[in-house]
Formats: sequence, C-alpha cells, structure tokens
Amino acid sequence: MADNPKFIWVDGKLTPWNEATVHISQLGTSTVSLVFEGIRAYWNDAARKLFVFRLDAHLERFAQSIRLIRMKQPIAADALRHGVIDLLRANEYAADTYIRPFAFTESATFGGMSGDQARIVLTTQTWLSRLKSGKMSHACVSSWTRITDNVMPPRVKASSNYLNSRMASEEAKRNGYDSALLLNPNGKVAEAPGACLMIVRNGKIITPSVTSGILESITRETLIQLCRDVLKLDVIEREVDRTELYTASEAFLCGTGAEITPIASIDRFALGDGSLGPITQRVELLYHDLVRGIDTRYAEWRTEVKSEG
Ligand code: PMP
Repeated sequence: MADNPKFIWVDGKLTPWNEATVHISQLGTSTVSLVFEGIRAYWNDAARKLFVFRLDAHLERFAQSIRLIRMKQPIAADALRHGVIDLLRANEYAADTYIRPFAFTESATFGGMSGDQARIVLTTQTWLSRLKSGKMSHACVSSWTRITDNVMPPRVKASSNYLNSRMASEEAKRNGYDSALLLNPNGKVAEAPGACLMIVRNGKIITPSVTSGILESITRETLIQLCRDVLKLDVIEREVDRTELYTASEAFLCGTGAEITPIASIDRFALGDGSLGPITQRVELLYHDLVRGIDTRYAEWRTEVKSEG
C-alpha cells in the first residue's frame, strides 16, 4: 500500500517494510497468543515536535502481557523504548501517529508453549487525533458478555480477547449504534470493546473498577489523576449498574485510540440534553493540550522524538 511506512522494527532491527515477512501458515497458529500495545504520538505543529504519550507505561503493560501468557521477552524495555523512537525518526513522521508493538511466538500449534521466546515487532502508521472534533457517539449495552479474568483475562492485551470486542462492536453497528458497552457476568458495567468508560452523576465521575473485567487502561489512569489533581473533581472507581448508564448526565469513552469520545446516548436514553457536557468538555480540553505538549505540565508523560539532523 502506498502509505506504508518506509521501516518497521523487527526483533531489534529497523527493517525495510517489504522485507518483514513470516510464512502465511503462521496466521493460523501464531496469532492465538499474540499480545500487543497501542500507543499514540501527537504532533505539535507550533513546536514542530512529535510527542509519544505515556510510552513507559505502555511498555510496562506490554511486558506484563508477555509475562502473563508466559512468553519470554527477549528485548529489554529500554531497548524497546529506543526502538520506538528510532522507528518514528526513521519514518520521518510530522503528524499524529499510532505505534503498535506486538509479541508472538512462531509455532506449528497454538502459538507455542510456556517459556517460548517472543518475537517482537514495532509498527507505525499515521492516525490523526479526533480530540475536539465535536463527534459524539451513540452507544448501546451489548447482548454479549465481557470476558472474565479466569477465562480470558481482559487485563492481558491479547489479540484473542478482541474476538469478544468484535462480537459486541459488530452487533452495535449492525443495530445502528456507534459503539457498544459490555456488562460482566455479574451484570455490572465493564468497558467498551476498545476503551474504558467514565460516567458523570451528580457532578462526580464514576468509572468501573479494575476488577470489573476491564483492560487496565493507561488513559483511564491518566484521567483519574488529571481529574483529581488538576480539575479538582471527585472520581470514584467502583462497580457500575446498567441503569446508572441511563441516569448519567454525561459519559465518555477513554483510551489511546478512542482518546476522549463523548457519548450522546445509551440505548437511546439521551445523556443530559444529548450534547457535549461541561465536565467532558473540560476533560477533553485538558487532555488535548497535555498530549500535544501545549500544556507543559506532566512532562514525564511525553517522550519527545527529535527529528533527524
Ligand atoms: N479497554 C480495551 C479493551 C482496549 O482495547 C483499550 C485500548 N487499549 C482500552 C480499554 C484503553 O486502554 P488505554 O487507555 O491503555 O489505551
């Protein structure tokens, strides 16, 4: 494809895009135990700089996913960190970019066994931010149930978990909604197929706890800190009932890809007056300015990628 990057990073080496191949038979086996990350880098046009957001936190979660499925990580976190930076520089990005690290073992069976050494790939693509675009989402509660920790742990960012996500997203779109919200087997709210959820009730932010069947989202953690420390809002992490979704005055999805996606309605119950709520707006503006480095606080969350030369 014409817009493929020049380079991809494979097992520690910058590799020309067309040279990075595995045998097609591996699609039937290696993908079973593939774990990955999704990271964004934001372009600051005024400063002509690219900032990777929460790189260390993503690489820590990546290492945790590899460990939890009992693969061996052959490349240390620091080398991966440099790999991400080298790859972004080599591909000369001057726009918002998505970075996808993934780890897998080549195998003739179900993605290999305990102790197998992972192969690690880093890939990048341009993906423009939709923050402040004004786009709102109409969500539904899915008829599919979220996977659980003792079945397929949502805490592990494993590609196989996304079959559960696909079921829910596909159903939502087929029924005319933009996004799904999944309940866990106890009937409590878990998360969206690829993002966490925050709702606003009586001026307080409420979000399902990390034991509700969610991926421990880095955006969620970031926003909890920002809402408490900067916006001085109460944030409560607890179980959330389905009908709390319908009585919320505001709600939004949060995640690296979803960023902050405001929700207009859930199961056709309008939230507030169905337009962008004041708390969501404050959260979105703050997040936008921080990730781009317009707001210079929390510098430790941004990794600057210096251009070549
Ligand atoms: N839940 C799921 C299922 C996801 O795929 C994502 C996206 N990574 C999130 C939550 C949000 O996580 P993060 O903020 O770390 O991107």
